[in-house]
Amino acid sequence: MIGILIEAKTKCPSCSSIIPINALVSKITCSACGKICNFNLDDWESILGNALEEVPYMEELEGSSSTIFSGNYNYEIVYGRQHPSFRDDKQKIDIDQAVKQIYQGWIANPLTGKKFSVRAVPQKYQLKFPGIKYLFCEQFELLPTSPLTEDQIETKSKIEPVYFNCPKCGGGLEIDGSQRLVNCRFCHASAYIPDDLWLILHPVKTVSRWYIWFDQYDRVFRWEQDLWDGVVDSQNNLYLVCESSNGNFKLVCLNQEYKPTWIKNKLDFKTHTTRGDIKLSLTTDENLILHSYDQDHLLLIDRNDGSVICSIPDLEQHPELKFKYWESVACDIDDSLLVYLNPEKKDAEGYSYYELLRFDLDLNPLPTWPDQKSEKPKWYSWITDLFKRTCGIPYFSGVKNRFEKLKDFEIKINIGSDGNYYFSYYNYLLKYNRYGEKIYYMEIPCNYLRGKVVGDSNGYAYALTGQSDDRNTLIRISPDGQQAETYVDSIKGGGLIGKEEFVLLSPSGYIFLLGYGGRIRVLSPDKKLIFISERSKKDEQS
Ligand SMILES: [Zn+2]
Ligand SMILES: [Zn+2]
Repeated sequence: MIGILIEAKTKCPSCSSIIPINALVSKITCSACGKICNFNLDDWESILGNALEEVPYMEELEGSSSTIFSGNYNYEIVYGRQHPSFRDDKQKIDIDQAVKQIYQGWIANPLTGKKFSVRAVPQKYQLKFPGIKYLFCEQFELLPTSPLTEDQIETKSKIEPVYFNCPKCGGGLEIDGSQRLVNCRFCHASAYIPDDLWLILHPVKTVSRWYIWFDQYDRVFRWEQDLWDGVVDSQNNLYLVCESSNGNFKLVCLNQEYKPTWIKNKLDFKTHTTRGDIKLSLTTDENLILHSYDQDHLLLIDRNDGSVICSIPDLEQHPELKFKYWESVACDIDDSLLVYLNPEKKDAEGYSYYELLRFDLDLNPLPTWPDQKSEKPKWYSWITDLFKRTCGIPYFSGVKNRFEKLKDFEIKINIGSDGNYYFSYYNYLLKYNRYGEKIYYMEIPCNYLRGKVVGDSNGYAYALTGQSDDRNTLIRISPDGQQAETYVDSIKGGGLIGKEEFVLLSPSGYIFLLGYGGRIRVLSPDKKLIFISERSKKDEQS
């Protein structure tokens, strides 16, 4: 749980006076003109949205500010991370103590005796902003049911009646400031109270700091920007790597309610090119391997808490194993790593080429493909090896069995639940069996392929594709590559897929569709929508 401080204000749409927003409420009366300003849930989204997203990643006492131009109002907001504190002497509020006194609506500063509000967040805000638990130090007068009587609110000075002269007949009128327009009891004309007098009756309130007590682990995880990669484990936990605002990234583990189990935002694995976007793979004991084109090593991450187990290789001990330019890394079902990388070498004709290598988890080299062949006779591999030698290094389109070098670089590797290998390059898909023998090479029917191709335990492959007129569809390819059918259509086509950008498949057959800005859709193995995030829902409304 963390404390979030809020200082917010807007301008009255009628008279342009400052309206301090000193409480999480739906109505605030303009003290200058008496207009009642309404703040609906979308207004509150504008006010609190950035704070709830950013503050959990700030250090204590770090803060930020923003000016928001939204539909109904413009806001100026200061927000930051601070343990809720009494406003008079800045002492920290004892949260447990305050919660015990929540029934009375206030807690007194034990040193000064001054009272400050405490309340549980009202239900409609709790539904809109899951994770907000309690509110502290809101302005008492703004709360719909103020726990203090007017006399107890120290900030409110009792208003003395004021006299002014009717502008029409000059009669002396006693006014209390409850209405801007008064009726003259002598001439019955309506008289408008002038500004200077109105301000005496309604002193401008100042912005005062209030606090949100917030549990970021008790709400569906959101990310604001790009999703770089994801993997899903046998328990249907999702691991995602998301771009964050300062060019950094967050690595998160989400449980089956899509709430974070842990979040890591300070891993030392920076990237500096778009090509360096961090990618993930899962080892057989379901720890995570991070790789980036911009890094010269891999990171092995503990799935239980996101801590770094080790760097692969240990570069201090084995500097000779330093590789740059990791394009694709897949952890195989035998816990070896199949890696496609740029060895910074040139072939006989001077062209750069790329290598498919295999290592154990300590980066000790292993043969890329196993020695033992399947049914094929010995002469077969002899012929193919001869063919490789005579024809030089192929492009992806000309690939045969057991490739080890290619001239094309942007190859994505994925390993199906049944251990088959899927290599994709633009719209093209190559499938190998465990011996590196080609099962098929095909063009996937689409404008472009989104993310990597995933394979299930029965040999089917699934590809999220971009089709014409901006439709995304999930295509399923039969185990022999002979059939490619639309397995789940876009919403436009009467299906379930919105603007999600890549697909993950859990070992138990659940389909996860994910994308930019917090898009999540989850389908059960029988293609029923079982979860949709707020952001994906929004796509359907627009
Ligand atoms: Zn006003
Ligand atoms: Zn009059």
